[in-house]
Amino acid sequence: MTCKGCSTSVIVSEEEIDTLVEEQLQFEEDLANDVLYKERLELCRSCPSLLYNTTCSHCGCFVKFRAKLAYKKCPFPTGAKW
Ligand code: SF4
Repeated sequence: MTCKGCSTSVIVSEEEIDTLVEEQLQFEEDLANDVLYKERLELCRSCPSLLYNTTCSHCGCFVKFRAKLAYKKCPFPTGAKW
């Protein structure tokens, strides 16, 4: 699967995502605790809107990043799942 605007693959490894998330979270202060984070990721894993096992189709975020931000909500259109 490639990007619509170029030929770059949109498939990213878990290791690459973990590195990106770790880097980006350095700038964040309001983080979900581990229990809440795991609950959110479990809901994402069973969600039909999860693409490539990594990305929310509604916001385009890596769910490993969005779920870690305490102040974020799930953007599922008919009602937030978390
Ligand atoms: S809609 Fe919500 S539960 Fe589904 S993948 Fe996106 S953030 Fe996760």
